[in-house]
Amino acid sequence: MAYRWPAGTVCKRIDVDVENRSCPVCERYMHVCDHRYHRLWTFEGATQVVNRLVHCPDASCKSRGRTFSPEAELSISMPRWCIGWDVLCWLGHRRFARHWSVPQLRAELKDTHQITLSDDAIEHYLGLYQTMLAARQHDPEQLAEAYRDIEALVLTLDGLQPEKGHETLYVVRELMSKRVWFAEPLLSSATQEVQRLIVLARQWAERLAKPVRGGRSDKQDAFVTAIAAEFPGIPHRYCHNHFLRDVAKPMLEMDSRAKVKMRRKVRGLRAIERRVLAERRHTAALVPCPTHETPQTALPAVATPQACAERDLSGGRTDRALDATGLAGPGEAGVADEAGEVVLGYCAAVRGLLNDDQGGPLHPPGVRMSEALQEVRASLDRNFAAQKGGVPSRC
Ligand SMILES: [Zn+2]
Repeated sequence: MAYRWPAGTVCKRIDVDVENRSCPVCERYMHVCDHRYHRLWTFEGATQVVNRLVHCPDASCKSRGRTFSPEAELSISMPRWCIGWDVLCWLGHRRFARHWSVPQLRAELKDTHQITLSDDAIEHYLGLYQTMLAARQHDPEQLAEAYRDIEALVLTLDGLQPEKGHETLYVVRELMSKRVWFAEPLLSSATQEVQRLIVLARQWAERLAKPVRGGRSDKQDAFVTAIAAEFPGIPHRYCHNHFLRDVAKPMLEMDSRAKVKMRRKVRGLRAIERRVLAERRHTAALVPCPTHETPQTALPAVATPQACAERDLSGGRTDRALDATGLAGPGEAGVADEAGEVVLGYCAAVRGLLNDDQGGPLHPPGVRMSEALQEVRASLDRNFAAQKGGVPSRC
């Protein structure tokens, strides 16, 4: 990848030489015949590595025509890279261990280290880093070292689909060291395809010379067949997460139906709110004579900004609405307003409850909704008992 150096970049020069200068064929002392210049960014700034290339001086030697490069070059960087190993490791670690984004990496390199790299260049080097990391993860010696103290293996297999319609990435993990062994995209989840992965997993286990103690998956047919074929007799367990999700499915469907029913039953909030607002306008027109009579005149159904704001509030409104009921004392000035306020508060709270979709298998939203609606009813009942006919509300 060609890198365009910013104009006026001053480089620190490092000269590197071939360590063993004797010709590998005739053992004569080899002479410097050329220089290769390699400019790159390290955390010590812009650097120019000057490689002194050598060749055998004997024109009749078989090694003639070959040039030898300094070995040390590779300890600084790889040929044609515009960054050193230090910058590559910094990028890879920040990206994959800290989950920094590419623009964030670019900005940090520029601000803190005065290194200018484009997004494309950073992505290119991250790709190289990933390739090297994968190769290291697969390295048999490294793997044997990681599994030295582990007696038996537990393998899991699962498919991940980044988006609907994408090919599925099948991931084989080992649970005792919580390590991803390998992943492969398969176009189908046919037993044959899946079995190939399990065969590979068996080969890995054989290479480690460790017994496989169990398998775990979501128990798709193909997984069950393939694991039984390659690891006969080992227990194959359900993944806890999948198990809970599958068990909860019919229950969540029932919960959802219950929610629909409750929504159907608790209706007419808008009508109640309109009535309160209409009443309020009517009262304002007749000031200073407050009345509880409901006006029958058709008023435009446009809500005041205040009512709109209240309507937008959801969830946490319950407490305030319930508290507010204690404020409505009869026979005082502005009582119509306060009563209306309470009714609007109740409406906002109930609307919040009906729109709340939070929760999962362990806290089903329908159950939460039912409990919350019962609380509202209990609150209304307490108010009616305290002051009969005080609050004109059906919600
Ligand atoms: Zn020679």
